Amino acid sequence: MNRGTGHSLVCGLEIHVELATRTKVLCACPNRFGAEPNTLACPVCAGLPGALPVLNAEAVRLAVLAGLALDCTIRSRSVMARKNYFYPDMPKGYQITQYEEPLCVDGSILLDDLPGGPRRVRIERAHLEEDAGKLLHDAFGTGTLVDLNRCGVPLLEIVGAPDLRTPEEARRMMEIVRDRLEACGVSDCRMEEGSLRADVNVSLLDEATGQFGTRVEIKNVNSFRAVERAVASEARRQERILGAGGRVVRETRLWDDGRGESRPMRRKETDDDYRYFPEPDLPALRIGPEEVEALRRRLPEFPAERRRRYRDEMGLLDADALLLCRPPAVARLFESACAAGASPRAAADFLRVEVFRHLNRAGLDPADVPFGGESLARLLAAVGAGRLAPVGARRVLERMFEDSGAAADPEGEAERQGLLIRSGGVGLDDLARRVAAAHPAACQDLRAGKEKAFSFLLGQAMREARGGADPKALAEALRRVLSGPGHESAGLTGPAEQAGGKGDPA
Ligand SMILES: [Zn+2]
Repeated sequence: MNRGTGHSLVCGLEIHVELATRTKVLCACPNRFGAEPNTLACPVCAGLPGALPVLNAEAVRLAVLAGLALDCTIRSRSVMARKNYFYPDMPKGYQITQYEEPLCVDGSILLDDLPGGPRRVRIERAHLEEDAGKLLHDAFGTGTLVDLNRCGVPLLEIVGAPDLRTPEEARRMMEIVRDRLEACGVSDCRMEEGSLRADVNVSLLDEATGQFGTRVEIKNVNSFRAVERAVASEARRQERILGAGGRVVRETRLWDDGRGESRPMRRKETDDDYRYFPEPDLPALRIGPEEVEALRRRLPEFPAERRRRYRDEMGLLDADALLLCRPPAVARLFESACAAGASPRAAADFLRVEVFRHLNRAGLDPADVPFGGESLARLLAAVGAGRLAPVGARRVLERMFEDSGAAADPEGEAERQGLLIRSGGVGLDDLARRVAAAHPAACQDLRAGKEKAFSFLLGQAMREARGGADPKALAEALRRVLSGPGHESAGLTGPAEQAGGKGDPA
């Protein structure tokens, strides 16, 4: 990106993703978010002398699966290493990670959906490591406390090559990594809970000389939008410095999303020397080609391909295809509804409008939907056959979230609630007659040509039907009844007459 100063942006992401294992990577403590501080910690987590780590095989499998999802080569031998540094959230004084011999190398992903067309960017490596604990600053007025629950949560660190050229590309890379890892179930990828997070590295390339500028790292970038904003903000900051004849300092900065700017965290004059060495308590990690191939067969369809299939083979609008291709729970619901006979368009509309509205209002996650696509297909079949109005379907849907009986038999639930539309419109005619009888003054007004009275009567009829009637069918029934015996002078049987009859004294 030429930013008008003779410099172009060079950016690389380091993405950390917490793996969704049942237990931690080096001990048997549960791997769970949101527990009371220090309730999920043991001597290994706390780094007590003599505590010995045992590598979690499931964490290795998920890391390999993630590597395959990012088109990496999986190395048959990799080595766990100690990275020595002292920080209070890592009580043993070193982190168990991988250094010279990581598990996954030489991957890439295709960035699509960009104005300039798709572009492939490289992933240098992805390695397995343990997460650190968390410092809680000022939780009790003064001082800092430490929560060790996150110590030893399995992490995959994905190191992207400095191939990104715009802030949008950085955000897109983050999204695609999320899409792919979420699809294979290696992580819930919740940025708001920290299970997916990024550090961004930004420098400027001098286009005249081809010289790379000083690289600045920005930490604490916790949303897709923040990735894009942090990269853009850092590029502007470095341009300002260079434009004023200054020198960009090598440092690590902390992103403040509220202020939309970063602030210095620590300076780096040289590369950190962590004195890595092979972890003596863990043997080298070996993975055979059969095991890698077995995991490769577990790779699912990814959202980008799924979106294309929804659009090109199932006939969805691209916007709907995009909305339904992820997260996996949404795609599953949509596909199982279609497999049970729902039309893809109708299922997409209903999910987008009714199901998502309900989820938003109830603060639920798509994974919390308590029924399957078959239930949805049954509900949509009743709507499609004209036995249930859309507004009635909404009420049945609400029950389906609370009651498994309603979810198993949506039409039965509609029946119980009196929402089924009676065939032949006979029931609607009865209803219209009742409403007309209850509001003689409005009928009088209508006969006098006051068309507003019809809207009033229709509103009363809709209320009476408690959402169990198709508004169009109910309006027709009302017109039919009002132009029948006792109501002849209303003379209103349809919109054409209605226009002609306006202002016509009865
Ligand atoms: Zn533990």
